[in-house]
Amino acid sequence: MKMIESFSVDHTKIVPGIFVSRADKVGGGAVTTYDIRLKRPNVEPAIDAAAMHSLEHLIATTLRNDPENKDDVVYWGPMGCLTGFYLILKGVRPSRDIYGLVLNAFRSVGDAAEVPGTAPENCGNCLLHDLEGAKRYAAEFVSYLEAHADDPAIFEYPKTDRPLTEDGRNFYDS
Ligand SMILES: [Zn+2]
Repeated sequence: MKMIESFSVDHTKIVPGIFVSRADKVGGGAVTTYDIRLKRPNVEPAIDAAAMHSLEHLIATTLRNDPENKDDVVYWGPMGCLTGFYLILKGVRPSRDIYGLVLNAFRSVGDAAEVPGTAPENCGNCLLHDLEGAKRYAAEFVSYLEAHADDPAIFEYPKTDRPLTEDGRNFYDS
């Protein structure tokens, strides 16, 4: 059951940032899906697939070992459009409240000596990795988040009405 009315994001206006995509009741509790957007959709080049894949492994490992938040991490994974990631956390927190968590997770990429979990037993495409590329994208995002820490635009989606398909159904995407 939805806890907040879902809306459509105006992708022509979205900037990199940390956004609440949706919150849902699950069982007796709730989970929040965050949009961790690194690139301006359709304006900046999207993230290179190999670097994206390495960022998925690196940051999943960091989040799932974070002493204060590891028990709340439900999911971390890339968007198909390769401009950002989805983070699902237990509970309902505004996006501002996870600024430090996200910032530190991307900072940790700079210290990584290797990408974890890249053996064929652990990964579905173990050749598709790029640690140096991941570090480059992570450093850019860290600088951006630091420079825009007080900018409300990095925490609030530019909203638009959710479009309907020809047969009247809601259209959902990322
Ligand atoms: Zn993998």
